[in-house]
Amino acid sequence: MKVTDLPAALSLQEYRGIIGEEKIAVLEDLAGRLNGVTFQEINSTRSGGGVAEILNSYIPFLKALGLETTWSVMEAEAPFFDVTKTLHNFLQGRDGFSPLMIEVYWETLRRNEGLIDDDADVVTIHDPQPLGLIEYATRSDLERKRFIWRCHVQLETLSVDTASEIGRFMRKLVEQYHASVFSSLQYLPLWRVPSFIIPPFIDPLSDKNRDLTGQEIDGVLAKYGIETEKPLITQVSRYDTFKDPVGVIEAFRRVREKVPCQLLLVGGRACDDPECFLVLRNVRDAAEDHPDIHILDLPPDSHLEINALQRASAIIVQKSIKEGFGLTVSEGFWKGKPVVGGNVGGIPLQVRDGWNGYLVSTVQETADRLVHLLKNPDLAGRMGARGKEFVRENFLLPRGVHDHLTVADQLVNGKITARESVICYHPRVLSPEPVNNSMHL
Ligand code: UDP
Repeated sequence: MKVTDLPAALSLQEYRGIIGEEKIAVLEDLAGRLNGVTFQEINSTRSGGGVAEILNSYIPFLKALGLETTWSVMEAEAPFFDVTKTLHNFLQGRDGFSPLMIEVYWETLRRNEGLIDDDADVVTIHDPQPLGLIEYATRSDLERKRFIWRCHVQLETLSVDTASEIGRFMRKLVEQYHASVFSSLQYLPLWRVPSFIIPPFIDPLSDKNRDLTGQEIDGVLAKYGIETEKPLITQVSRYDTFKDPVGVIEAFRRVREKVPCQLLLVGGRACDDPECFLVLRNVRDAAEDHPDIHILDLPPDSHLEINALQRASAIIVQKSIKEGFGLTVSEGFWKGKPVVGGNVGGIPLQVRDGWNGYLVSTVQETADRLVHLLKNPDLAGRMGARGKEFVRENFLLPRGVHDHLTVADQLVNGKITARESVICYHPRVLSPEPVNNSMHL
């Protein structure tokens, strides 16, 4: 299915005001090198989830740069998504994926075999769901086009590098691509495909992140009956044990003994994961109707609401015990808030301990850091301001577009042809030498 209801090409003018003229000029230059190249993005959902959210902003941005881009979504039903969810969990280190599931996978892929556009030059395929489409690329497609696999999942490299059947299955497919892109060096598997590291990014002009008026923020607070006389500590997350919401409640109770404050847990309701309901119940049990703990269960399109709640908060928490990147950390910083985050996955890429927030590993550490920030609002303000500038520099949409276009430029105009070797490039440090990833693993 072709996505045809995207917002029109956005205007670069507003981004100029956020990141400066120079960076936009670099992007325009890069886009100029790719003049005439047609891009196609393929994923498995039109809405819901980080990938759809990213493409929603990414594609209009490419169009604004004058690049022709289309977005195609696979057609698939529930049994396929059950299989790919199990595969997703397997890739993150859990058991449960059986070779029998591969049958269901291919049934759906066969139905989508015509999805690759004839006239697309650079085809980016997102995540494991449509990964197998490469099998339907003809020899001429593979010569004429450039295929990129963009992996947004936190790969437990042990799961895929061991000699497991699924590891071999994934590897055989990925090695047919011209390049792969991962969010962090730590997720890079030892496969023979040129690999790039591109951290995720947020769109500063989306409803989730754009500036809000005081009236808009007050409206959302009133809607959920939240007062801000006592400072708000907020965690925005799916109700998932890896996000440790019960640990956050425990930390809050310890903080509350020392400083008046409130806790806000914001999570999603549209969740087909049975575990999610169980976690939400445990969260409610742990909160024991504490008058200063607010537990929200919001629909998936509550972007403006989440934006307002983050802006109304004094501190953002993301006390994960496992985390791919943690977009909520960048979202919190972008609103000028200090972030107390679990020292796992992509969080340390964003939180510099003691500079823009704190990295924590235990409930007690979380409580101590929260108390310190609540007692020192000036410090909290300085940390939040640094966090915002750090995000401006590193984790905004234009930087993501820059990195992806650099990959495309290298594939179309550059010299990356070494498909037989394991190499890793970071687009921001692409020249002069590619980095051999064995040095980093
Ligand atoms: N989010 C949301 N509603 C919710 C919970 C989360 O819109 O109820 C958003 C959140 O603002 C962020 C994304 O979903 O943009 C979550 O991304 P993150 O990388 O933090 O975690 P993931 O859910 O991908 O593990």
